[in-house]
Amino acid sequence: MRDESESLDRVMVIAAHPDDPEFGCAGTVVKWAQAGKKVTYVLLTSGDKGSHDPDLRPGRLAAQREEEQRAAARDLGGEQVIFLRHPDGLLENTLELRRQLSNLIRRHRPHIVITIDPWRHYQLHPDHRAAGQAALDTIYAAREWYIFPEQLVGDVEPWRVREVYLFWTDSADYWEDISRCIETRISALARHASQVGLNMEKLAERIRKFARAAGERPGYEYAEEFKRFEF
Ligand SMILES: [Zn+2]
Repeated sequence: MRDESESLDRVMVIAAHPDDPEFGCAGTVVKWAQAGKKVTYVLLTSGDKGSHDPDLRPGRLAAQREEEQRAAARDLGGEQVIFLRHPDGLLENTLELRRQLSNLIRRHRPHIVITIDPWRHYQLHPDHRAAGQAALDTIYAAREWYIFPEQLVGDVEPWRVREVYLFWTDSADYWEDISRCIETRISALARHASQVGLNMEKLAERIRKFARAAGERPGYEYAEEFKRFEF
């Protein structure tokens, strides 16, 4: 159990593709950033396969999607966006990925990690499963002295993440009230023009509908829901 007086003001969002954070947790990100938390995004791929346009080469698409992600994060008050550039559609929860994430967690020392629930029923996208699983596996690794010990040089030490929030979950037990930032959440999503371009109006209605449904149980107008763990 954590010391209640400790302020949990560093947050790391770990997701598979540019736009996952805006689909999953952008309302919470903007609310927490406004409350003074420092939010770092870590994107495991740059979404280079996220187009059916055969003329759009993966390298160009990746550059565009990184730019879209930076713009969205900026809108929400995120401080930094880091891309690990694993191949989109082929992401695997490997030791190498966990080594990279462990290094980031030990250096950025997030109190809170937000990531994708890898156990959601029928989570069909392999990258979404791999991203959530890799993030959670790394949270365990990062706090151990004898895992990836080569990273422990200078002032880098093992780091214990205090809380984890999983989005896209069917085991929600935590609801964040995003009633006052629902429109910011939607406009941040609209930054991902390569993905949402022409459908934005319909999509905005869908986002409001889901957020309204998520808010029913806690009694908020709009909410985002998570499975939450404390360490
Ligand atoms: Zn995705």
